[in-house]
Amino acid sequence: MKLIYTHENGFLVNNVKNIIEGHGIDVVLKNEFSSGAVGEVSAFDAWMELWVINDSDCERALDVISTMQSKADDPDWLCEQCAEENGASFDVCWNCQYEH
Ligand SMILES: [Zn+2]
Repeated sequence: MKLIYTHENGFLVNNVKNIIEGHGIDVVLKNEFSSGAVGEVSAFDAWMELWVINDSDCERALDVISTMQSKADDPDWLCEQCAEENGASFDVCWNCQYEH
């Protein structure tokens, strides 16, 4: 097993888990329940951790994460066809279906 992702925000970790599972990679969450407690949780050791079960899937899972993160950091883009603004995670213009 290998640790591939951890974050103080459990929603983010769950989101990453869902996406990676969508790629057919087996993962497991650790600290899933400790992060839900209010107040007493100390910083780093309570972060939720996402582990890949098969080491051979590790590289692929990291690829999925980096693709996801690079998309989230991209600026919005303007459609060349209708000049509408589109979020970075969309590959197709919401207005005219132009492919970015
Ligand atoms: Zn458009």
